[in-house]
Amino acid sequence: MIHPAPKVVVVGGGIMGACIAWNLAKAGAKVLVLEQHAEPAKGATQWSYGWVGTASVLPSEAPQAFALKQTALREFSALEKELGTLPYAAYGALVWGENDEETHQLVAEQQAVGVSMSLMDQAAIRQLEPSLTTPPRYAAWAPDDFAIEPIMLTQQLLDAAKGLGAEVRYNTVVERLLVQGDTVLGVTTTQGDISAQAVVLANGVAVKTLLSDVGVDAPVYEAPAFLMRWQTDDAVVRHLVCANDLELRPDLQGGIVIATDYPEEGEAGLEALVQTVKTRLQQLLTPAPSLELRGMAGARRPLVKGGMPYRKKLSNLTNLYTLVAHPGIILSPYLARLSAQEIMDGI
Ligand SMILES: Cc1cc2nc3c(=O)[nH]c(=O)nc-3n(C[C@H](O)[C@H](O)[C@H](O)COP(=O)(O)OP(=O)(O)OC[C@H]3O[C@@H](n4cnc5c(N)ncnc54)[C@H](O)[C@@H]3O)c2cc1C
Repeated sequence: MIHPAPKVVVVGGGIMGACIAWNLAKAGAKVLVLEQHAEPAKGATQWSYGWVGTASVLPSEAPQAFALKQTALREFSALEKELGTLPYAAYGALVWGENDEETHQLVAEQQAVGVSMSLMDQAAIRQLEPSLTTPPRYAAWAPDDFAIEPIMLTQQLLDAAKGLGAEVRYNTVVERLLVQGDTVLGVTTTQGDISAQAVVLANGVAVKTLLSDVGVDAPVYEAPAFLMRWQTDDAVVRHLVCANDLELRPDLQGGIVIATDYPEEGEAGLEALVQTVKTRLQQLLTPAPSLELRGMAGARRPLVKGGMPYRKKLSNLTNLYTLVAHPGIILSPYLARLSAQEIMDGI
């Protein structure tokens, strides 16, 4: 007897939804991705910085989460073998803290847990980033870290999933889960009901709403972060650069991308923040670049209480799976592969 492929509905066309859809399609499922917007990656993924590596944090701050990232990073070479060249924007990260001690501590801690990182002196930093006006005395150099364009990677994954028979339906909002007893039978959407053998919630911060409707209090919350895309005359930096609290990198489409903390005053502080960043960039780089703001947003990052992924088959509801994790660009290939295996085993 030939069994039909199980139909799995994936809610959300961000990096997580795209990655899980591709993994499920590879495993033989009939996949339907539902995305509320007219295009993919319109949530946190659209405004993600796309740093894939570990160099920006001290391992001792959250050892378990750090180890998970190290494991997840190994997944990217396999991803590239299957998908083809990934949309890299930069290779290698140069990081320095507020003072030399901070930078030395970063290097010592990262080396102790096996990260390839070395301490660079000013002359070596100047070679790596000639346009820095005043390079710091020391910086940490992480040659294996890289930057990837998150929107392009999401599209690449969805295209690959579609190549394996998956369907992606845009402008479709999932309003609630269709539940009978303790079994999830599908979803109710703005385009009508859709039945499924399994439903995967990969819709970022919005999983909270769909789950609260069925009595589940997901430990997910939103944390804003700020991203800017600046047009510049020339390529002004070559690598990922983390100058204390300011992160900058080349944009694959030209110009630079900046990530920074969201202002404490909220939206009212955005204009002042843009000006501050512009001034800092013009001081940081020589010759001072001409900068035209192409886009900016304070985006809502889906975070999980406790810092580890919310990757769950819910115990009180069958056929329902949730996947939310931070940082999602780094973790999605690894977690989506594991999740797809579990989902297929459970159907
Ligand atoms: C400024 C900034 C910098 C960051 N830097 C990094 C970094 O350097 N490295 C890194 O790894 N991570 C980084 N992150 C975090 C990373 O971007 C997120 O973890 C990741 O994008 C989350 O992806 P997601 O698919 O879970 O959620 P999202 O991208 O939010 O996708 C959810 C999707 O679901 C859709 N959706 C929601 N509700 C519904 C519904 N009811 N029906 C249908 N569709 C729905 C949304 O429209 C959206 O497309 C950064 C984030 C920000 C904002």
